[in-house]
Amino acid sequence: MSRDEWQCPASELAMKQFDVASAKLNLDPNVAARLRRPGRAMIVSVPTRMDDGRVHVFTGYRVQHNDVLGPFKGGVRYHPEVSLGEVSALAMWMTWKCSLVGLPLGGAKGGVACDPAELSRNELQSLTRRYTAEILNFIGPEVDVPAPDMGTNEQVMAWIMDTYSQHKGHAVPEVVTGKPVAIGGTHGRREATGRGVVYMITEAANYLGIGITGCTAVVQGFGNVGSVVTQELARLGVTVIGVSDRTGGYFDAKGLPVEKLLEVADKNHSLEGCTYGEMITNEELLELKCDILVPAALEMQITEENAGRLQCRILAEGANGPTDLDADSILAQKNVFVIPDILANAGGVVVSYFEWVQDLQNFFWTEDEVNKKLRDILTKAFHEVLNLSLKEDVGMRSVALMIGIKRVATAMLWRSLYA
Ligand code: GLU
Repeated sequence: MSRDEWQCPASELAMKQFDVASAKLNLDPNVAARLRRPGRAMIVSVPTRMDDGRVHVFTGYRVQHNDVLGPFKGGVRYHPEVSLGEVSALAMWMTWKCSLVGLPLGGAKGGVACDPAELSRNELQSLTRRYTAEILNFIGPEVDVPAPDMGTNEQVMAWIMDTYSQHKGHAVPEVVTGKPVAIGGTHGRREATGRGVVYMITEAANYLGIGITGCTAVVQGFGNVGSVVTQELARLGVTVIGVSDRTGGYFDAKGLPVEKLLEVADKNHSLEGCTYGEMITNEELLELKCDILVPAALEMQITEENAGRLQCRILAEGANGPTDLDADSILAQKNVFVIPDILANAGGVVVSYFEWVQDLQNFFWTEDEVNKKLRDILTKAFHEVLNLSLKEDVGMRSVALMIGIKRVATAMLWRSLYA
């Protein structure tokens, strides 16, 4: 395989972030050399019978970055741009995310390069089952536990769980998280990532002395994360003035009708046909004047090119890797309070962890218990990051990465090198 396949803007960003944080930590170079690369990366062919009878061969990936703290954990993404490089970056970020919030889990990510919106339900099911079969020997409750990510949902997780279980000859709900409650999922998983983003925004607003009620917010992306963030912010009395998805941006300075937007998204699986607000581009959306900006779509949205024009007070990263390193320095100069991705969007994997624990014990919790435990874990991590950031005078992102990397490195040093 050529080196180029590993390289993409997201993987370069993940590497650079790691290099900056590990230099600040004075990380043992032998450990740093091991952590720069994933432990295992798989590329699989996913032949799928299309509705017209033809067989289309999709490309799938599963990258397992590090499992020193526990089984690999991370989502499966269905998106046309999925590549080995992107999945590797996302896998590395999962390692730091799990470690930062104190979960006994490692980091992985998977994906299939496809456009799920173009596939029928049958095609999506066939693709999912074949992808699962291809990686079957490398996943499992104690090995690697997939979950939803962009373009996948609880139905896809149910197919993964069923395919794995059929091969084992018995039900294995704990092989996957983010599945329906009816087959061993947990209450509160679907909303967990968005809810966590809003818990973190609330902590940031308290710290900055801004009353959250009456704030204005802009949310990029209206999928599982963005739609829940929008709904939860509105519930707290925040005026959501801009939202967007792949159909474009929608803006109303007086506030968009959030419940109506959710109805449109529910019906059309996107904001297509939305008649509320003025249409703007995704680029214009990010530059709107607001108190809270939540990128909850793809990587690399905020760069050197547009960071100077951002007009928010709090940047809460619902997406993974939405901001590059050059943008980070510009945002620091502008005094934007950044809640970095591995903290802001960790709610998803925290509740995935709760789901895995409940499945392993066959003992299930109420949604209130889930939400309370989620809030406790995230709030503790937020203050750990904030306190160290103030003490060391280092940005929130670098500190979050430093805490995440340090825990993994400490565990690796104890376990030493098996050779
Ligand atoms: N895909 C989500 C993330 O990026 C969740 C992963 C999980 O629950 O394992 O954090």
